[in-house]
Amino acid sequence: MPSQIIRAERVEKYYAQPSENRIQVISPTDLAIEAGEIVALLGPSGSGKSTLMRMLTGLSVPSAGEVYWHEKPIATAEVNVSIVFQSFALFPWLTVLENVEAPLKARGMEAGERRKRSMKILDTVGLDGFQAAYPKELSGGMRQRVGFARALVVEPEVLFMDEPFSALDVLTAENLRSELLELWQKKTIPTQSIFIVTHNIEEAVLLADRIIVLGRNPGHIRTDFKVTLSHPRDRKTAAFTQLVD
Ligand code: ADP
Ligand code: MG
Repeated sequence: MPSQIIRAERVEKYYAQPSENRIQVISPTDLAIEAGEIVALLGPSGSGKSTLMRMLTGLSVPSAGEVYWHEKPIATAEVNVSIVFQSFALFPWLTVLENVEAPLKARGMEAGERRKRSMKILDTVGLDGFQAAYPKELSGGMRQRVGFARALVVEPEVLFMDEPFSALDVLTAENLRSELLELWQKKTIPTQSIFIVTHNIEEAVLLADRIIVLGRNPGHIRTDFKVTLSHPRDRKTAAFTQLVD
């Protein structure tokens, strides 16, 4: 049986309003992430995808319900997680290598080991030779590669991505996406599971083993299904059939 890394039980989120009326953004939601899967959280803008993802990572505390990591409440669990953001969120004053080393430095890793690990992951994501460059010297696609390298260098249990390709042009996005999938299939990515937030149906269908579709007002899971076929055309047919059900 596949092992469960994260489990959310009846998580809800409200945001406070100046009028003192609370707005419910996520209604009670159950979901789980297992080792070995790519899960896509798909939904329209404003449906609460980022809010739900943030609760799974511990960045945001649910208003009700609980998130467990390996069956321990997230507040007491050891959580090894990285997040890739749409906006890259790199440090502009640091080189590519320094950006990638930053999370290892924060964890107190010794300089030599830090460098070795960072160079290796830069090579994996296709940034060999770019270690001395600054983010502003790079294209959007290359910047997001740095974002991936920085996220992966800590070998997160789950790699979270919030619309990681949305700021890129279509071709760059497609290239990065298929490279990511190839690396994942070759098991060269040091993470157990990937959780990707997207509003792009095609992206979800082509990448994910499982798709969770979020509806809005307030955010709720409309459907959660496995995509079991491997051929892109078959995957599309199967997934679209389930989406329109
Ligand atoms: P998505 O990622 O699907 O676009 P979000 O999770 O960002 O959706 O937002 C869901 C809803 O919650 C939106 O209506 C948004 O305006 C609202 N929201 C998000 N963050 C906050 C916040 N910090 N305070 C108040 N409302 C928020
Ligand atoms: Mg969002």
